[in-house]
Amino acid sequence: MAVLPAAGGLTPLLSRLGALIRAEGPLSVARYMAECATQPGHGYYMKADPFGSAGDFTTAPEISQMFGEMVGLWCALAWQMMGSPPRVHLAELGPGRGTLMADLLRATARVPGFREAAHIHLVEVSPVLAERQRQALSGHDVRWRQAFETLPQDAPLLVVANEFFDALPVHQLIRGDDGWHERLVDVDPEERGLRFVVGRAVTPLAALLQPACRNAVPGEIAEICPAGVRTAAAIGSRLAAQGGAALIVDFGHGESGCGASLQAVRQHGRDDPLAAPGEADLAAHVDFPTLLRAASDSGARGFGPIGQGAFLTRMGIDLRARQLASGNPAHAKDIAEARDRLVEPEAMGSLFKVIAFVASDIPTPPGFETTEVAQAAPDPC
Ligand code: SAH
Repeated sequence: MAVLPAAGGLTPLLSRLGALIRAEGPLSVARYMAECATQPGHGYYMKADPFGSAGDFTTAPEISQMFGEMVGLWCALAWQMMGSPPRVHLAELGPGRGTLMADLLRATARVPGFREAAHIHLVEVSPVLAERQRQALSGHDVRWRQAFETLPQDAPLLVVANEFFDALPVHQLIRGDDGWHERLVDVDPEERGLRFVVGRAVTPLAALLQPACRNAVPGEIAEICPAGVRTAAAIGSRLAAQGGAALIVDFGHGESGCGASLQAVRQHGRDDPLAAPGEADLAAHVDFPTLLRAASDSGARGFGPIGQGAFLTRMGIDLRARQLASGNPAHAKDIAEARDRLVEPEAMGSLFKVIAFVASDIPTPPGFETTEVAQAAPDPC
């Protein structure tokens, strides 16, 4: 149970959640996560810029320009594999401060025809972050969109997303003696904070669980992310219909399985997910095999996951680090440290993973040789 800190713990969102729970009953973990992230005016992403050393967490594009540059190189190569179409919609999901897109565009400035072809779209729900993105991308013609589904359909797509899927709401299910029950968020009896409770009836959401969870024992927790699956399926259908490619980077499992991964991060440290709604970043591990299956069921080809370290190495980050260091010897140590943070397995190199979806007429995308995911056989159950 999360008990509120004595002073300053009553966040504006907590009052709203308390009223909502009293009116409608306990909330699913997914509804709680959605309220905490994107509730207008009070949600975590809606009111402040959470990134960087003064914020709560630092993402790969904020660690080094090399990350966005390697993603840019991947996009330009994928565009060439598509036959260098004269028009392509280049869309980023959850662009944060706009750093990745700015680095991507700078890195591809000299690829003949790419920048002229690319129409830039940012899928973002936060007005505060959209403003940051406008500043980072001043001088570029950019369109903002609230949802992936509203992207235009008249040209192929290039989609990139870093640490977007981990922010999408997950449901948590807990195994009981009689089947799976939904884990819910309730006010605590003294109404000083929030606590987890277990839904009384068995939940139909259990039908969405991975086969790997079928042998779970009572007390085990499993997560499902319908919003992530819907987004991956939508990307897959668009790629099948319009052509194009997508690159998704995030932290999470290489294999689907059971377990609770919902976490809260605040001021670069772990926090209780229920302690300060709207004030901490809530995220859950991404289930890559499930996203790959959703995209391939929708008609795209899926590749990966491969470690972020392997991906960046294959895209040439070491050469780029040497170039940057020789051009700026005073910063050589910082550049080497940033490279290590992004690539080394004990840092971000293996927990963070990369998957790609491509239209069926496009060859294997760069970095993903020998990683194509076989078309899933129909589930016998
Ligand atoms: N890609 C950036 C930011 C990652 S944080 C980086 O790597 O630095 C997650 C981003 O997704 C933020 O920009 C947040 O506002 C956005 N976001 C979160 N939930 C969203 C949703 N449901 N729809 C669109 N954007 C969302």
